[in-house]
Parts: sequence; C-alpha cells; structure tokens
Amino acid sequence: MKPTHIEHIGIAVKNLDDSILFYENVLGLKCYAVEEVLDQKVKTAFFMVGQTKIELLQSTDPDGPIGKFVEKKGEGIHHIAYAVEGVAEKLATLEQKGVQLIDKTPRKGAEGLNIGFLHPKSTGGVLIELCEDPNKK
Ligand code: ZN
Repeated sequence: MKPTHIEHIGIAVKNLDDSILFYENVLGLKCYAVEEVLDQKVKTAFFMVGQTKIELLQSTDPDGPIGKFVEKKGEGIHHIAYAVEGVAEKLATLEQKGVQLIDKTPRKGAEGLNIGFLHPKSTGGVLIELCEDPNKK
C-alpha cells in the first residue's frame, strides 16, 4: 500500500481547551486550526510536528464515536492516519484482501481531506485512517 508518511495521530481528549494548553505550553507546539466536524460529532484541534500533525478530538455528543471511545477507554490515542495516494483505490484493494473496512468509500474529514477508516479487528487493534489531500496532486 506504501503510505508516504504518517499524516496525523488522532488523540481523544475530554476537554479540547485544556488539552490545547498542554500541547502549547508544555510541548511548545502551536495550534494552527480548530474545526468542528459535524459528521463525526467532534471538535478538532491541529498541531504540526515536522510533516505530521497531531489531531486532538473532543466529542460534541456522548453517542458519537469519540464520545463512546472516551467512555470506554478514557482519553488517549484514538487512531493513526497514513497519507496515501488514491484512498478509494486503496480501500478497494484492501477489501479484496479481506481487510474489514469501516468506510468502503472515502468521505470528507477535517481539513477537506479524503479519508477512510479500517476496522481495528483487521489491523491488530489499531484504528487506521487512510487519507489524502485532494489539493496536493
Ligand atoms: Zn484523523
């Protein structure tokens, strides 16, 4: 599949504002964007580290995917996102290989990226996101 790099690491948090303070004041990173993704019922905050981003995710709804995750497992790493070229084709290939997909076709994520999730049951327990920037071609 050959991902080009780790696009971002998604981290579930309870309180976005508190977490932004930690990343800024303790880690010394700068939050460059805060965005609500209605579809995913989350508010996100982004930090750049080299070519990789840290995406903090706070649920806006206890029944949303992040709300349920935090309820079950508490705060922590939620997913790893790999940058690939052609998310749609990659998802189709993976499905042929028997990988269980959450998204059979790409959808829009934060920052306008095309994204698709693979089910942790098929990936050794890690929620994997594939993403590509449609403007970077
Ligand atoms: Zn993500």
